[in-house]
Amino acid sequence: MTQEPELVPPLPENYSSMVLLVDDQIMVCEAVRRALVNELDIAFHFCTDPLKAMAVADEVRPTVILQDLVMPGMDGLNLVREYRKNSSTQAVPVIVLYRALRESQRQLISANLELERLTRIDGLTGLGNRRYFDEYLGAEWKRALRAQTPLSLLMIDADNFKRYNDAYGHMAGDDVLKQIAHAIQSGAGRSTDLAARYGGEEFVVVLVDASLAQASAIAERLVQGVRDLKISHGTGHVTISVGVAKTVPTENETPHDLVKAADLALFRAKSGGRDRVVVDGV
Ligand code: GH3
Ligand code: MG
Ligand code: MG
Repeated sequence: MTQEPELVPPLPENYSSMVLLVDDQIMVCEAVRRALVNELDIAFHFCTDPLKAMAVADEVRPTVILQDLVMPGMDGLNLVREYRKNSSTQAVPVIVLYRALRESQRQLISANLELERLTRIDGLTGLGNRRYFDEYLGAEWKRALRAQTPLSLLMIDADNFKRYNDAYGHMAGDDVLKQIAHAIQSGAGRSTDLAARYGGEEFVVVLVDASLAQASAIAERLVQGVRDLKISHGTGHVTISVGVAKTVPTENETPHDLVKAADLALFRAKSGGRDRVVVDGV
């Protein structure tokens, strides 16, 4: 076999074992390198190109080969057969890394899923965040437009919350927001309902396929749910106001129109005395 010196960086002077790792995933190589970094008499070399593995093995003369089985362009088992044919690698034990690879892939996938989840979640309350709400409402709007089914929105705002913060402190206020969020989540529990934090002390709930009567019943339940928390606020308790709007989307409207209608109903709930539900158009 021809020597290809450029394949291999200078090797350490003294070592009793040479580990060669053949794996196309640089992440796996890095993990193994780190695991071996304090083993002074173990030299480590890795090769991410399976087509060069034989030539590299020829040159580094490994004591042991750690071999990934799943690599693009080459079946790891074919490589193992090649090691067996070649005189310089014939007697070298080969440890197949299939399980380690699968485990690292599994971890990577679950880390990615967790990241994706985090980009949709409001850090304080655990509800959906504003960005996810926009995305969800946009998607459900299109679906409802196509199917000509109703779409409802609850716009929720904590009452006199500035005064709560002023009286009890911002941290206590944060804790109340968590409790309100929990009450909203429990009150709007269908799998297609989305409860999200709209911003500050404002929340939204998207109700898919709900009539105006159903939407306002859910809104009443949320208002009652927050009353039932019985969180002291001045001479009374913490309350919320809710504006409800419903539409069967048309081409001439946008999701923003639904948000505006719910917001207007919320405004009426506030001017009507708070701690109540107002339904758009009613
Ligand atoms: P209203 O009944 O009219 O809604 O009165 P309000 O005091 O709730 O309304 P306003 O919009 O004047 O004040 C909202 C307050 O909510 C101000 C702000 O201190 C508080 N707030 C907004 N976001 C947060 C938050 O993340 N944590 C806490 N603790 N307070 C917040
Ligand atoms: Mg507000
Ligand atoms: Mg408020």
